[in-house]
Amino acid sequence: MDYGATISTTDGHEHTCDYCGAEISVSVAKQSGHNEREDYYCPECNKRYHTRASLPIMPQNVKLISPRTDGKTDKYQN
Ligand SMILES: [Zn+2]
Repeated sequence: MDYGATISTTDGHEHTCDYCGAEISVSVAKQSGHNEREDYYCPECNKRYHTRASLPIMPQNVKLISPRTDGKTDKYQN
């Protein structure tokens, strides 16, 4: 086994949107030494977040776990 080889993995994390209260799950591709800042957006209010990934984050990588809790329908002004 060569542990120095580039390793691609999928990494995911969950967090609550601090604007609307929705719970978001985002899964990203990671590659050792090749991660850049990539943006993604809250599915409910469109607030922009960022994380480190080796590939751009597609909308299908961002999942809504629970809907927004603020009772509004407005969009965050990024
Ligand atoms: Zn939100």
